[in-house]
Amino acid sequence: MNARDIERLFIRTVSEYSRREREKRANELHLTDLTEQCMRRVWFEKHSPLPEPIDNLLRMWQGTMLHAMPLLKHHELELEFEGVKTRIDEYDDESGVLIEKKFVTFIPRTQDELMRYYSHYVKQVEYETLILTANDKPVNKAFLLFVCRGEPDAGRPPISVFEVSVNVDSVLDRFIAESRELEQMLKKSEPPPIPDNYSPFEYPCTYCKYVARCFSA
Ligand code: SF4
Repeated sequence: MNARDIERLFIRTVSEYSRREREKRANELHLTDLTEQCMRRVWFEKHSPLPEPIDNLLRMWQGTMLHAMPLLKHHELELEFEGVKTRIDEYDDESGVLIEKKFVTFIPRTQDELMRYYSHYVKQVEYETLILTANDKPVNKAFLLFVCRGEPDAGRPPISVFEVSVNVDSVLDRFIAESRELEQMLKKSEPPPIPDNYSPFEYPCTYCKYVARCFSA
C-alpha cells in the first residue's frame, strides 16, 4: 500500500458510507427533508441523486465525527411522528433539555443573524420539540449549539448557543401541512420549479451540487 492507495481507501470508505445512508433514506421521510431550504433539491436527492463531490463528502464525514461525542443522557435518539423520522442529537428526560448541534464555518452572534442565516435550523428545533413531545418526552428548554469548524472569522466566537422557544400547539398544524405537501411533491415525476428568488450566484445554489442541472440552458 502506498500514499495514493491510502487516499483512495479513505475516499472510497466515506463515499460508500454516504451512498448507503442515501439509499436507506430514499424511501423515507426525514425531518431534514422537511427543513431543507430547497424542495427541488429534496426531490433530486430522492429521485435522481448525483454523487457527492469530495468537499461535501469530507464535510459530511467531519459532521458525523463531530456529532459522535454525547452531551446528554439520550444521544442520537431515533424517533418518528406522523411518518417523519428523525434523530435527536441530545436530550435529557429529567430536565427536559434538548440540544441540536451544528458544526458550521459562520457562527451567528445575534438573534437577527440566527434568523437571517439559520432559520431552517430553528425550524428543525421546533419540529424536534414537537416530535419529542408527541412521543411522551416533554421538552422544557430547547437549544441550538453552534460550534465553529476551524478558525472563526475575526470578531466571532468559536461557539454560540441560542435558546429556541417553542409553542408546540402552534407548530403542529404547520408540521402536518408541510409533511403532507412534501409527501405529495415526492410522488410527482417532475421536480418542483426553481424558487423565484434563487440564483446560481447566491446561497444556497452556490453550495448545491445540482446547480448545473438547474441553471444550464
Ligand atoms: S441549485 Fe438551487 S434551485 Fe437547484 S436544487 Fe440546488 S438549491 Fe435548489
